[in-house]
Amino acid sequence: MSERTLVLVKPDGVKRGLVGEVISRIERKGLTLAALELRTVERSVAEEHYAEHKEKPFFGELLEFITSGPVVAIAVEGPRAITAFRQLAGGTDPVEKATPGTLRGDFALETQFNLVHGSDSPESAERELKLWFPDL
Ligand code: GDP
Ligand code: MG
Repeated sequence: MSERTLVLVKPDGVKRGLVGEVISRIERKGLTLAALELRTVERSVAEEHYAEHKEKPFFGELLEFITSGPVVAIAVEGPRAITAFRQLAGGTDPVEKATPGTLRGDFALETQFNLVHGSDSPESAERELKLWFPDL
């Protein structure tokens, strides 16, 4: 049974030239790309995307960051794609939680600048894919 998840290469990943690395790991895992777009995020989309973090102290910073430059949005497809990509990404804190071998563990140092986003549940994936790829 196949499912879809939303992956973002965040502005830090695009600026550092790590888009190919992220896509390569997704493909090597056996997942496929159902849609892909380079896009500068409007503030309203960023707020909607991160709505669950509205009350967090880092919400303002997070919006500034995610709208600071283009992101690459990817709809990723495959068996257990949501969990599979979260495993490829590694934990949120790239030093304390993400282990070497994961994207964050290999390429990031700060929690905010942790390279990628991946939907965390089927409900999030559905909501986020509707927001980023309404026509998919
Ligand atoms: P994720 O699902 O692993 O991306 O993590 P969360 O949903 O908990 O947080 C969303 C994003 O907010 C993270 O990927 C980070 O970019 C950022 N973030 C999370 N926690 C913190 C924090 O304590 N401080 C800052 N500055 N950013 C954070
Ligand atoms: Mg999250």
